[in-house]
Amino acid sequence: MSKLKIAELFYSVQGEGRYMGVPSVFLRTFGCNFTCGGFGMPRGEMSSERDAIAERMIEFKDYNELPLVSTGCDSYASWDPRFKDLSPMLETNAIVHRIMEILPHKRWENEHLVITGGEPLLGWQRAYPDLLNHPSMGRLREITFETNGTQRLDDQFKQHLHTWTSHHGQDFYREVTFSVSAKLPGSGESWSDAICPDVVCEYEEYGYTYLKLVVATEQDLADAEQAVLEYRTAGFTGPVYVMPVGGVERVYTLNNRAVAEMAMRKGWRYSDRLQVPLFKNEWGT
Ligand code: SF4
Repeated sequence: MSKLKIAELFYSVQGEGRYMGVPSVFLRTFGCNFTCGGFGMPRGEMSSERDAIAERMIEFKDYNELPLVSTGCDSYASWDPRFKDLSPMLETNAIVHRIMEILPHKRWENEHLVITGGEPLLGWQRAYPDLLNHPSMGRLREITFETNGTQRLDDQFKQHLHTWTSHHGQDFYREVTFSVSAKLPGSGESWSDAICPDVVCEYEEYGYTYLKLVVATEQDLADAEQAVLEYRTAGFTGPVYVMPVGGVERVYTLNNRAVAEMAMRKGWRYSDRLQVPLFKNEWGT
């Protein structure tokens, strides 16, 4: 039986990208290859908000008690080792049991599964076949992997995705989506580490794939244009979304309209962050 280290497991409305507004189970795995300390900071500076939270760690007994941050990665506790004890390692059987408990009808109907992180395509790829082959997951039809687009798919997982999506019937289809939030320099990550067009082009062979780029400034927009050019040159054909920076409402409302206008100018799609206006981006939303 495979195991996954789970930061969060909750039921909410997908707030971003292609499935915006769709009731979804979110499975947030622990671990990431990036730290993205640059979000919401002046270029070249890194947020220290999570360091200040880590110093008060003794106050927090549960993941949901952690403070939200307005700069840096807003899901910091899903990868920073200082918070790892708040994320249990669970067998796939136990995860499926918890999913059934939180689904409104205690079984899959029209809900969508989001596997997110951290970075969900790290070593956890080995556990997904066990998770998705569980008998209670049989009626699940749509999965999105929310990834930073740097991790290659391993051969066993590719074979599994092929088998999983080939299960079609007259009233039944299955679809995998890769929502690729490639990290632009405004995240604090380096271009060479974060922009991996050949990796993302391969995702397109295994699922519907789109780019979702977080932007705030005209400089971010220029970076997005350069990144899209590199993905297109490599053969990427999927749609491009731009999404406002802002894990808290005060930051999000500063630039959501400007980002929508950037999207219109470029002919790209606008992705909201519905979890911010609807739920204040609290944990579990
Ligand atoms: S890739 Fe995503 S989860 Fe990882 S540090 Fe960056 S924003 Fe956070």
